[in-house]
Amino acid sequence: MITLVFADALQPFLPPARRGGAWRLPAPPDASLKHVIEACGVPHTEVGAILLNGQPAVFADRAAEGDRIEVRAWSAADLHAAHALRRWPAPEAMRFIADAHLGALARRLRMAGFDTLFRNDFADREIAALAAAEGRIVLTRDRGLLQHRAISHACYVHASAPDTQFSALLERLGLRPGFRPFTRCMVCNAPLEAVDKGTVLDRLPPSVRERHLRFTRCSGCGRVFWEGCHWRRMAQMLDDA
Ligand SMILES: [Zn+2]
Repeated sequence: MITLVFADALQPFLPPARRGGAWRLPAPPDASLKHVIEACGVPHTEVGAILLNGQPAVFADRAAEGDRIEVRAWSAADLHAAHALRRWPAPEAMRFIADAHLGALARRLRMAGFDTLFRNDFADREIAALAAAEGRIVLTRDRGLLQHRAISHACYVHASAPDTQFSALLERLGLRPGFRPFTRCMVCNAPLEAVDKGTVLDRLPPSVRERHLRFTRCSGCGRVFWEGCHWRRMAQMLDDA
């Protein structure tokens, strides 16, 4: 038999009857720790560290009769710890790809300045390929997607409300030092550039033309943004998070 002990943060992935204590099961013949952990329902991307009989281990290590395997989640506090299973970029360099159900979360990340790919028709294999090719962190509520071998960095999104999803992600990845609010288009993800009022005058509603002074234009889709009440509402939301 082997004994598995999962961190509290990983408990929601276990079958309900297995939550709470240690899980003893027959030692699988020649299985990697990654395989054993995923067979219990926990995506490998949620695992931050593994202790095999008290010693730091990696996914490719094998489980043998009598082993005790402690499985830890990752969090902002130990993202860059020596025993961490993967290297993470600094917050200001973090880039994301969100699955089809997380459009509202993607918009919030863009608003805070993070490069975040989102389309509502991405196939799983496209998400995995883009994440691997461009070094993006996958955001999803789909455990199946996280089993993809090509995905090394991901964050499972537990909450269903976008504001809660956003603040949980900020906390778990320690994103705040990477904030660059209003530098990226919420609609298409391209960088925004400052523009003179004169050059966009003909595209502004009269009330905006009179009241506002600072404008940005999206380098991708050409939309013009100004510091109006929408802007203030977004700033408030970032503050709250
Ligand atoms: Zn745009």
